[in-house]
Amino acid sequence: MNKWFQRIIKLLWKYQSGQEPEETIDSTIQKKSPVPDIHFDSLLIVNKTPSNDTVGKRDFIEVIYKGKPHWALFQCPCGCGKVISLSLQKVHTPNWKVKKNTSGRPTLYPSVWQNQGCCSHFWIKDGMVYWCYNTGIKPWIAEPKYHSEKTDVCNIYT
Ligand SMILES: [Zn+2]
Repeated sequence: MNKWFQRIIKLLWKYQSGQEPEETIDSTIQKKSPVPDIHFDSLLIVNKTPSNDTVGKRDFIEVIYKGKPHWALFQCPCGCGKVISLSLQKVHTPNWKVKKNTSGRPTLYPSVWQNQGCCSHFWIKDGMVYWCYNTGIKPWIAEPKYHSEKTDVCNIYT
C-alpha cells in the first residue's frame, strides 16, 4: 500500500467513526474546572417579554413570538442578581442562539461577557454554566486586541 492510499483510508476511517465536530464551547473555558452543576434545569418558553423582576434565580426564559425566537432572559449565574437579556434576532448585533436539549435544558451560543458590574464571562451548555478563565475582567482589559471601551457600545459581548 502506498502512503497516499493509507492516508485516504485513515481519512475515511475518521469520517466513518462518526467523530463529533469540534465542540461549540471554545478554548476560553477554564480547562481544569470540573463538570459544573446544573444551573438552569429547564427552558421556559413564553410569547411575551416578562419584566425583569419576574425572572427567578434559576429561570431560563426564551421569548418566542409568532414562531420566531426574540429574547433570552435569565439572571446572571454569578449571583449578582442582574437580569441578562440577549437578542435572539439575527437583525441585531450581537445575537445569540438558544437550543433546547433532549434533557429539556438550554444551551446558549456563543458565550456571554458582561462589560459592566460583575463582568462575568461564561457559556451555558445543557443547563450548566462553564466559566471562562478571564471572567470578572472587562473585555477591553482582558482582550484589548478584540475589544475597545470606546467602540463597543453594547454592554454584553459574545
Ligand atoms: Zn453577575
